[in-house]
Amino acid sequence: EQRNQIISDSIRGIPDFPKPGILFWDVTTLLLNPQAFQLTIDAMVERYRDQKVDVVAGFEARGLIFGAPLALALGVPFVPLRKPGKLPGETISESYDTEYSTDKIEMHTGAINAGQRVVLVDDLIATGGTLRAGINLMGKVGAEVVESACIIELPALKGRAKLGDTKLFVLIEKE
Ligand code: IMP
Repeated sequence: EQRNQIISDSIRGIPDFPKPGILFWDVTTLLLNPQAFQLTIDAMVERYRDQKVDVVAGFEARGLIFGAPLALALGVPFVPLRKPGKLPGETISESYDTEYSTDKIEMHTGAINAGQRVVLVDDLIATGGTLRAGINLMGKVGAEVVESACIIELPALKGRAKLGDTKLFVLIEKE
């Protein structure tokens, strides 16, 4: 599809970041291109407009950039899922393994309530550890994950398999 091609072409790959042998997909070049950025948000809005979404939650850092405009367009609350120690209020957390380290996400207690329908947003799924942690965190508060949404999937890393029954929506695939 032409739209996804424009989005894909706007993302640059940087070899050997953050360490040798890793090809890092850099969405800051997508953000420099307002047409590609708009098409990205439009694709997600189109996908979720009629799915009775109550909340959008985005992962620090790049999931915040894409999740917030999606929430605004849908007219629903936006909830940041942050790295440890960043949120000032009482938090609930979940630990996970990333491609590079062990990490933890935190969410303000009371930001998402039992029974709410949530879309989880990040820029990219690699091993699936981050999204899995988000799904687990939603489970802890009794929320329902409508779907996880990413711009980029790295299918070679089989992250999708980690998400179990939860659906995953992506716009493009990269190696
Ligand atoms: P996962 O938990 O292994 O699926 O890794 C996904 C997380 O790591 C997301 O929050 C991504 O933002 C980040 N990440 C991993 N690889 C890349 C990359 O190539 N480009 C941008 N972000 C990446």
